[in-house]
Formats: sequence, structure tokens, C-alpha cells
Amino acid sequence: MPTALITGITGQDGSYLTDFLLRQGYVVHGLVRRNSSISRSRLEPLFQDKQIYEQRLFLHYADLDDATTIRRILLKTMPDEMYHLAGQSHVGLSFEIPESTCQFTAMGTLKLLEIIRDLEKKPRFLHISSSEIFGRPEQWPQAEETPMQPVTPYGIAKAFATQMVRLYRDSFGCYACNAICYNHESPRRGESFVTRKISRAAAAISLGQQDKVALGSLDAKRDWGYAPEYVDAMWRMLQQPEPDDFVLATGETHQVQDFLEAAFQSVDLDWRDHVEQDSRYIRPSDVGHLIGDSNKALTKLNWRAETRLPELASIMVRSDLELMRGTNPAEIAPEEKNR
Ligand code: GDP
Repeated sequence: MPTALITGITGQDGSYLTDFLLRQGYVVHGLVRRNSSISRSRLEPLFQDKQIYEQRLFLHYADLDDATTIRRILLKTMPDEMYHLAGQSHVGLSFEIPESTCQFTAMGTLKLLEIIRDLEKKPRFLHISSSEIFGRPEQWPQAEETPMQPVTPYGIAKAFATQMVRLYRDSFGCYACNAICYNHESPRRGESFVTRKISRAAAAISLGQQDKVALGSLDAKRDWGYAPEYVDAMWRMLQQPEPDDFVLATGETHQVQDFLEAAFQSVDLDWRDHVEQDSRYIRPSDVGHLIGDSNKALTKLNWRAETRLPELASIMVRSDLELMRGTNPAEIAPEEKNR
């Protein structure tokens, strides 16, 4: 059986990737932070499955800055593929904690590359990079070769990690790739991200549990896709004969306001009656017009993002409605709090 190691296995992408790899017949090992709560996590249904947990799915405690432990786990599990998803992924929060964002997102990736460089049996390595590396770009849409101009601590850390992955590929012969992912959302998205904040609010308001939701900039634009489709592309990337970087995006951009419109419409509400603007959610600096060109992924991986914004918003609201009514045991509410 092929074996994969995933950092950040308890996150949105980590949990979808785990589902995907298990379906493909993989043995999956996940790294979990020492202080990460794995009960009530997005992996809960898999822990309950006796055919899966500790049969084909194994968790190992290791912090990203603990190189010795990670090396030991790599030597023990000898994965064929390694998916590096971990890191402080909230852009807004990265302004408040820039040092630890860089420590985990930038230096954490370099440490993994250093460990892999020394291994005799090197796993194929995938780094989940981000559209944030393009920052305020001068060309639209952005593709793999678009110059990086990050404008947030998170984007700067990701740019460093992305460039390091290229260096280890070109100079040290590692099979190392960057998936340059545009925003991708789902019912498993952390509650502090704007799409999930909106889907939860639309669900709670329609159930009469709350009346208002406070948001920041409504005209901010993003290229929003559906997360389960993106983990499929991540896997396809590591099946290629040569390592390479790929932009993963829908190629469509929308304002926060468009997501609000679609989410509230799906429960027959008018968002204008329920949204308050709150300056606490306005960022010191935000990215410009980000829209991804995934033509290379279409040509080489035969992958394209299928789910578009109105459907995405309605999937998320429906799931939150079921969660709030207690009728959706498969999706456990993540523990993160609104920011
Ligand atoms: P990001 O692209 O990783 O930063 O994803 P987010 O979902 O955190 O933010 C997307 C955009 O929504 C950003 O431009 C935010 O400024 C904007 N936004 C507006 N209101 C909010 C809010 O209440 N919370 C968050 N997280 N973002 C908001």
C-alpha cells in the first residue's frame, strides 16, 4: 500500500485529503501538534472507524519546529508522499503574530526540506502555497511564473517557503512541488474565515438564533473554490513524472458581498437586514485583485475547479443548518472561535 504523511492533518484540507487518500488505498500518517485537540476534530468520524484508525490511519505528535521528532517519524514511517499543509493559515491573525507565523510557515517548511534532503529514501513532497504570495500583482490572472509581491506577514512567509521548495527541487534534486492554492472553502472551513462566518450567520439567523453579523470589508475580492476538489489536485500533482508547481483556482473572482448575497439568498433572507460593518475586521493591508489561471493544471493534471460560488455558499449554509439542528454528525463543528 502506498504511504502518505500529512502535516496539518486536523485542518480543513488535511481532513479532506485523509478521506481522499484512504479511499485511494493509502496508509496515512498524520502529524499533530502537541497541544492540538484531536477529539471533536474534523477527523472524528475516522477515529470512530475501527477498520481505519490505527489500522490505516495513524497520528503522531510532533511540533513543526521539532526537527528531531519529525526526522524520527519519517525514518519510521518511510512515506512515499509527504503533504505539508500545516502552518498558521489565518492572514488577519498573521498581522498580530507575525513572528510565529514566519516561524511555522516559513522556517517550518525549510526545516522539513532540510530533513528530506538528508534522507536516503526521500518522499515526494508537496507544499501548500497560497495566492497570498502574489499580494498586489501587476498581471491578471496570475499563473505559476507571476512575480511574487506579498503584502501580508502570511504571504511573505509563504513566498519564502515557496521559493525554498523551488530551490530544493532545482539544486538538491528533491521531488518537491508547490500547490499555489487560491482560497478554498467548505463546511470544514475554520469559523474565523469570512465564508464560514457568513454561512454560520445565515444559518443561525434563519433559525432565529441570532439577528446580526459583524464583518469587515465587503468589497474585498477572492477567487473562492471548493476544498474537496483542491485535495484531489494536490494528489494528482505528486503522481506526475517530474515535480512542478501548479496554480489551483477557479479563475473567477467575487466580492465578499457576492458570497453574502448567495448565502443569505439560499435561506430566503436579505443580507442587508443583518450585516453590520465593524472596523475591527478591517485589515492593515490586504491583497489586491487575485484571480488564478489554472490552465497548466487543466493541461497536465486534467483538473479544474467545478463548484462555483452560489453552489459553494449553499453547500456551506446547508451544512451549518444541519449542524445547528444536530442532524449532521459527519461534520463536527471546528473548535476555532470567531475573530
Ligand atoms: P484570506 O483570503 O485567507 O484572508 O481569507 P478570509 O476569509 O480570512 O478573508 C477574505 C476577505 O474577507 C479578506 O479581504 C477580509 O478582509 C474580508 N473580510 C471581511 N469581513 C471579514 C471578517 O469578518 N472576517 C474575515 N476573516 N475576513 C473578512
